[in-house]
Amino acid sequence: MLHLRLKKTLKVTLPALLIGVLGACADDPVDESVITVYTARNEHLIKPLFDRYTEETGVNIRYITDSAGPLLARLKAEGENTPADLFVTVDAGYLWQASNEGVLQAIESEILTDNIPASYRSSNDDWVGLSLRARTIIYSSDRVDPESLSTYEALADQAWSGRLCLRTSKKVYNQSLVATMIKTLGEEQAEALVAGWVNNLATSPFSNDNKAMEAVVAGLCDATIVNTYYFGRMKKDNPDLPLAIFWPNQDDRGVHVNVSGAGVTKYAKNPDAAKAFLEWLSEPQAQFLFAEVNQEYPVNPEVDPSEEVKSWGDFNADSVNVEAAGRLQAEAIRLMDRVGYQ
Ligand code: FE
Repeated sequence: MLHLRLKKTLKVTLPALLIGVLGACADDPVDESVITVYTARNEHLIKPLFDRYTEETGVNIRYITDSAGPLLARLKAEGENTPADLFVTVDAGYLWQASNEGVLQAIESEILTDNIPASYRSSNDDWVGLSLRARTIIYSSDRVDPESLSTYEALADQAWSGRLCLRTSKKVYNQSLVATMIKTLGEEQAEALVAGWVNNLATSPFSNDNKAMEAVVAGLCDATIVNTYYFGRMKKDNPDLPLAIFWPNQDDRGVHVNVSGAGVTKYAKNPDAAKAFLEWLSEPQAQFLFAEVNQEYPVNPEVDPSEEVKSWGDFNADSVNVEAAGRLQAEAIRLMDRVGYQ
């Protein structure tokens, strides 16, 4: 187990993924006002929140960053001995998995239930969403009339033959998208839809959202489906990029949304402090920062997104509980496999 006293030697003796200890003086005694976080949300997105919390409360936060899979495996392997109080990750699929594997504990909190809508929380109260990400249609503003767009389903129509680009089905974001469609549409309809997309692909699926958008810019295809913060980043670097956002399914189920979120670990040494930090993250000021740093949407409906994100327009989000993304993930993977979505 790491102690604050080890601060000076941490970076020398531990692997690079072990990022370290924040905010505390190396001479501080180890006390209960320290939270240890395992985070799959990138350091540059979460560290500003840690710093702010330490500034406001004096509670120190040390953390490890890695991908969700390895962090989950580590939590399981460490069991009771884990130093982690809090697990932070992107995608409801991973949050559900953590819950399902029993590495989280239920937290009763009126603050969390007040601040975060039920569709963005675990039904067993063992995790909460902290930011919302919309996975929507991005199209070529040179070649596509937005009037010709309507729904995710319509991208499976003959009219889109050879004009669609997609990211790989291996990415949890697409597994979650398909899982929530299975939940809402039923497996048969969801399968026909995804088979239609695969039929309409201009080229093999891409390894990430940026590459899919670059393919639209390059004229390889006319539209794709990505998380809006990737669009935001690309537009920031190149405001003249001929890409635009479309919000599909506004007359029915709405735009697919997912969350990044967190849960207190089952064997947290400091569960009360971890809960207090989670509550703080659900409050307006932190909510704005948490979303703004990655151009996402706050989960707290009282909080507006940043001006830049607001400029992309309002939309109705799918109200299906994001937990379905995890619960139906295995089914979604099998479905995508059956229709040849690579
Ligand atoms: Fe992402």
